Amino acid sequence: MRLSYTDSERAFRTEAADWLRSELCGEFADVRGLTSRVGAPERRLEWEKRLGEARWSVIGWPAEYGGRDATMAERVIFAEEYAGAGGPPRINHVGVELLGPTVIAYGTAAQKARFLPPIATGGSIWCQGYSEPGAGSDLGAVRTRAQLDNGEWIIDGQKVWTSLAQFSGWAFILARSEPGSVGRNGLTFLLVPLDQAGVSIRPIRQITGDAEFNELFLDGARTDQGDILGAPGEGWDVAMALLGFERGVSTLGQQMAFRNELDAVIAAARANGSAQDPLIRQRLAQAEIGLRLMRFGALRMLDQEGGAGTGAAITYKIQWASWRRSLGELAMDVLGQAGQVAPALPDGDYAMPILTDLFLNARADTIYGGTNQIQRNLIAERGLGLPRELRGDLKG
Ligand SMILES: Cc1cc2nc3c(=O)[nH]c(=O)nc-3n(C[C@H](O)[C@H](O)[C@H](O)COP(=O)(O)OP(=O)(O)OC[C@H]3O[C@@H](n4cnc5c(N)ncnc54)[C@H](O)[C@@H]3O)c2cc1C
Repeated sequence: MRLSYTDSERAFRTEAADWLRSELCGEFADVRGLTSRVGAPERRLEWEKRLGEARWSVIGWPAEYGGRDATMAERVIFAEEYAGAGGPPRINHVGVELLGPTVIAYGTAAQKARFLPPIATGGSIWCQGYSEPGAGSDLGAVRTRAQLDNGEWIIDGQKVWTSLAQFSGWAFILARSEPGSVGRNGLTFLLVPLDQAGVSIRPIRQITGDAEFNELFLDGARTDQGDILGAPGEGWDVAMALLGFERGVSTLGQQMAFRNELDAVIAAARANGSAQDPLIRQRLAQAEIGLRLMRFGALRMLDQEGGAGTGAAITYKIQWASWRRSLGELAMDVLGQAGQVAPALPDGDYAMPILTDLFLNARADTIYGGTNQIQRNLIAERGLGLPRELRGDLKG
């Protein structure tokens, strides 16, 4: 395990920190410290473009597509500095961290040239259309259909929980393209423009008051015959590779954001005196230890270039999601009744206190990107080589 950084990595950290500090204290000071994933979308789109202009948007990608060929260590360093500087949530997280790496791995040269640069420069925002009302963890139950007709795929079906679809120009979706096929067979991975007549998007309001995710209805939506990744009917492997990116590398550097959240809980405990309570003190100490363990987990991964589906990376999703859920519960216990009251806004809405929002949001961490139960299956089957779970309906 690496416990320190090289001189060039330290120089990279300084360069990134200087740039972030100057931008987030200057032109983009208004988005510094923003935590809402749906707040200030126009400004966050502009921020996305600024990152792209300065080539800080997709640093892990090859330079020819707007990246910096950054190593895993540099990516973690940048993520740490980004969170430390108060960088806002990336509105194109899905394009930058999920779709982009999948196009790099599975796209043709023409697809790379067409789809990657607009993501790097903040010009095309993507969302993920995997989940359906009856197909969440069990993606092999996808029912959305895609059929070829005169050089175009015609798509019918419904997706749900589609994060940030309301700001997105494109979705990648998994659809059944071979009638009668079951499970992982006969699925195609399609790239679908959302600005068309066959698509409607309905935001779902959440308990936090935000509407981060949406229902996505595809009613005769069209996409060009060539706008698929992998071969027709062989989308399962592409979809799984993308999930590897979602669960692993893209979340490596987030401990700095977690550090900010834990510090906010500690500050609240000091302010209202609950830090004197021995049980609260013990839980704060446990949270601190958990955070440091995650830090060491990230350092372990620095030596595993590209290994999103293996080793330390495979345990990381369940580790951070469970830690953050516990932190949210601790925050509520620290706040007591004050955590249950949100100030009213003049427009009749309410302003969710940041730690209450953390508590409510963290409930989702153990669900999206693969639930804790699914992570345990992955650790058992792929990590430990235990026998595979019986999956009656999946052939092949
Ligand atoms: C905040 C948030 C954002 C999301 N964003 C997106 C998005 O942008 N795009 C998208 O496509 N989806 C998105 N999702 C959907 C998310 O990926 C699914 O909710 C998730 O995959 C779980 O599926 P499900 O909700 O259908 O639960 P189910 O699959 O019905 O699972 C219900 C319960 O059964 C357990 N379970 C299921 N199968 C097994 C098994 N084989 N072994 C053990 N236990 C099992 C699960 O762990 C869970 O506890 C989002 C979800 C949330 C909460």
